[in-house]
Amino acid sequence: MNLYDRLITASDRPCFLLPDGAQITYGELDAGAGRLAALLISRGVVPGDRVAVQTDKTPEAVMLYLATLKAGAVFLPLNTAYTASEVEYFLTDAEPALFVQDAVALAAEAAGHAPLETTVRRTDDDLAAIIYTSGTTGRSKGAMLTHGALYANATALTQAWGFTGDDVLLHALPIFHVHGLFVALHCAFLARAPMVWLAKYEDAPVLAGLARSTVMMGVPTFYTRLLANPGFTQAAAAHMRLFISGSAPLLESTFAEFEQRTGTRILERYGMSEAVIITTNPLVGDRVAGSVGYPLPGVALRIAGPDPTGVIEIKGPSVFCGYWRMPEKTAQDFTADGWFKTGDVGRQDADGRVWISGRAKDLIISGGYNVYPKEIELILDELPGVTESAVIGLPHPDFGEAVAAVVIGSGDEAAMIAKLRERLAAFKAPKRIFFVEDLPRNAMGKVQKNLLREAYVGTFS
Ligand code: AMP
Repeated sequence: MNLYDRLITASDRPCFLLPDGAQITYGELDAGAGRLAALLISRGVVPGDRVAVQTDKTPEAVMLYLATLKAGAVFLPLNTAYTASEVEYFLTDAEPALFVQDAVALAAEAAGHAPLETTVRRTDDDLAAIIYTSGTTGRSKGAMLTHGALYANATALTQAWGFTGDDVLLHALPIFHVHGLFVALHCAFLARAPMVWLAKYEDAPVLAGLARSTVMMGVPTFYTRLLANPGFTQAAAAHMRLFISGSAPLLESTFAEFEQRTGTRILERYGMSEAVIITTNPLVGDRVAGSVGYPLPGVALRIAGPDPTGVIEIKGPSVFCGYWRMPEKTAQDFTADGWFKTGDVGRQDADGRVWISGRAKDLIISGGYNVYPKEIELILDELPGVTESAVIGLPHPDFGEAVAAVVIGSGDEAAMIAKLRERLAAFKAPKRIFFVEDLPRNAMGKVQKNLLREAYVGTFS
């Protein structure tokens, strides 16, 4: 069945609660999407065609996403930060039938069309979207997600997080990424719940929005920014039943400070463009700092290799069906028996709880020994003067790679290294510590270790 018909039910219930006090109902969303679907078809878009979109976060952009589904086409969102030459690569690679840069203008153009009456038939196995991964190394890859995969994940999440029509979701995430686009929107849609709709994260509107919301989804930087604001108090969070974090690791210090400030624990979950959400901490039960919780119902998870810590492999209904026009890369990333190699390194407790220690490509091999950056970062983060750290491997003439740390904060480098040596074997302890004001992050707040490696590449050579 077409995902559109599963997600959207026309009604008078509010869907978007806008900053100016205006509302858009589910009925208006359905009609707007229907008109845009009719426009897409009149422009020659046929089922399976890609519709590429690089546009501001507006209700019209959401209508365009839904219209693309309704017309049987494939939605291809692009980060608004991409430059023209970056966009050119995606357009050449994906060959979309249409590239939209202004969803509001397109919706205005669609106003003259009657809403498309019948949703174009699609099966669970048909493509709904292509999400290009951020691609820190090599070419960016388009993860292909089907109608069935997105629906399976959306139903699992609404159940896992207890969404109902009484919820109000605070939506401040970008919608060119799976987090804001699929995780957040689909939960609200399936619950027929309204969203406090913010074009981006800003302290004042988010704080005001919390007073009339029940659930917030955010990346860790949303939470560190909230905590840095004295206006964020227990009373400010009193209306909320759930704060969810993902897309990047949540620091244990953020988790602890948040609990101290509000009396509530952030629920951390783990996902990726290739599978949407994979694991989550429980709604009822223990949310543990530093752990991403348990595999969602229907997801099978295992650790590759003989050691307790290794690359996480998964199978499940929401796993993507391959990289767009990259059959060889797709084959490389799946095992012969059909498990997807996530590229994340982690371990799983006897009771099923999952802990992530970082990306496999960030693993450091120093003098032949494996060093997991997270182990060193956790210890570094406890030192006085350190707010956050990123541990990387840099080329070294003797060791192949040597461990170095880039730290937000200040301190005496030699004294800190000596302190770390008390707890860490020599090959694990950083040989250099660099102090910075901030770490390079992508749009989702993820620290870009590839940029750090580039910046400090010559340190030991
Ligand atoms: P993306 O495809 O852009 O969503 O990036 C997915 C990657 O983000 C995953 O493969 C993980 O490396 C990372 N990630 C997402 N959520 C978490 C989390 N809760 N903790 C640690 N890493 C995470």
